[in-house]
Amino acid sequence: MGKRKKATKPQAAKKVQPLDVVFKCLFCKHEKAVNCKIADGQANLECKVCGQRFSCRTNSLTAPIDVYSEWIDATEEVNS
Ligand SMILES: [Zn+2]
Repeated sequence: MGKRKKATKPQAAKKVQPLDVVFKCLFCKHEKAVNCKIADGQANLECKVCGQRFSCRTNSLTAPIDVYSEWIDATEEVNS
């Protein structure tokens, strides 16, 4: 018996996914624990597990991932 290949339909009307705004915490190492909110030119990161916070200035081009890398840099500076 020949298998009939099911035609995979192209996914119509893909919903625009919001940017991934949850990250792994640098301190408690929990995945998806750090939330990033950007509002009024200010970004705030907060880990919902260990409560670590970080905030920095943003501009219109700043994405949550940029804030996250800022946080990594800041953390490395503290540790070095
Ligand atoms: Zn944490």
